[in-house]
Amino acid sequence: MNKEAFNPFRMAQTQFDHVADILELNEPTRDLLRNPMREYHFNIPIRMDDGTSKVFRGFRVQHNDARGPCKGVIRFHPQETIDTVRALSMWMTWKCAVVDIPLGGGKGGVICDPHNLSAREQEQICRGWVRQLARVVGPLADVPAPDVMTSAQHMLWMLDEYEHIYGNKFPGFITGKPVGMGGSLGRTEATGFGVVYTLREALKQLNIKPEDMLASVQGFGNVAQYAIRLYSQLGGTVICVSCWDQNDQTSYSFKKKDGIDLDALLKITDRFGGIDKDKAKDMGYEILPGDAWIEQEVDILIPAALENQITVETAQKMSPRVKVIAEGANGPTTPEADKIIAERNIFLIPDFLANAGGVTCSYFEQVQSNMNYYWEKDEVLGKLDVKMTSAFLAVSDMARKRKLYMRDAAYVISVARVAQACSDRGWV
Ligand code: NAD
Repeated sequence: MNKEAFNPFRMAQTQFDHVADILELNEPTRDLLRNPMREYHFNIPIRMDDGTSKVFRGFRVQHNDARGPCKGVIRFHPQETIDTVRALSMWMTWKCAVVDIPLGGGKGGVICDPHNLSAREQEQICRGWVRQLARVVGPLADVPAPDVMTSAQHMLWMLDEYEHIYGNKFPGFITGKPVGMGGSLGRTEATGFGVVYTLREALKQLNIKPEDMLASVQGFGNVAQYAIRLYSQLGGTVICVSCWDQNDQTSYSFKKKDGIDLDALLKITDRFGGIDKDKAKDMGYEILPGDAWIEQEVDILIPAALENQITVETAQKMSPRVKVIAEGANGPTTPEADKIIAERNIFLIPDFLANAGGVTCSYFEQVQSNMNYYWEKDEVLGKLDVKMTSAFLAVSDMARKRKLYMRDAAYVISVARVAQACSDRGWV
């Protein structure tokens, strides 16, 4: 995919500046909110299985904690950059505020590729990351969680290291833990289901029924799989998904005109969300180029893979039939592409609203860990639905009343809440 010159942090700042103008924020508040409060950059030296040593680069960025402890994922990725981490920490601040949970925004990363690392080597990276940060993270300061290529197992290694350092139990230090080890039921489903709770509300407002709608999804990992599951349960049909192919080092789209079979595809999908294209072909799927997911004749697009995927170039390939875009991924749309979406009057559910189900359920996990009492899955998902629905309604209401693009409306709500907290604390 050809990309516009792209820096996710510049994009996050551009979006913020636009909203700061709408809200007429004063200069000190702008200065405070357009940059992270704190950043940590460090090396993680580990002993590899073959006896050699290798040094990995790690980050933690704490964007803002005026509304509560920082909350944010840690991503393992070979192309991780500090500006990606900065952008995602800022988006976390807005995400926690838009769903009105008492947390701030943070984000971490390690430049590494788990595809090429043994479980033991990954454990060493997790433990090394915590050793570097133990003094500045914690249940009341900054609470990490899993993301791209990190899992419940990684979180448990990190928790274990933290508890080892402090000599006590702190289940509230980290979320996304395995169920039975302080994790919450429903966390695995939470982000994908949350995307569809908001999509369901959008369709109600547009007066269209899910069973009449075709969708195309970019990605086939955690978020995409559960979004497809719930969307199908509502009666909708997904005709195309795309994913990264590790062997060919490129992405492909997988299409079936009458609808993909989620369970059958899951049987030929690896743990990184990569579909076996030869087996998919045998099952009757058309194998198309990576960008084909966005060109499909569908009503709904769900980007749920990576940032910077809907650009001016790819947005122009969208079918005139597209009515709704629900952003499962963080930062999938560039500001220039936003203009095209707005002009075409496509109903956008912006990333930090649509995919806030994960952090909302992480917050539920913290609450349960602190109480040491765990809810049934239905209770978790019921509470999640209530939170996501009321956040969606608040944003769509704001968009209607102030005639704002949905992304701007979500920003106006969340930036105003964070600015208010900074002002109430006497910071600005
Ligand atoms: P994942 O690692 O489980 O899956 C990622 C999927 O994207 C895989 O199927 C992979 O093959 C695919 N992919 C990677 N590069 C691609 C490309 N160039 N073209 C097409 N497909 C590609 O990750 P996930 O947890 O599902 O997260 C997906 C997105 O959602 C990320 O942007 C993440 O930051 C965001 N997100 C995740 C959560 C969560 O709880 N998991 C919460 C909020 C936001």
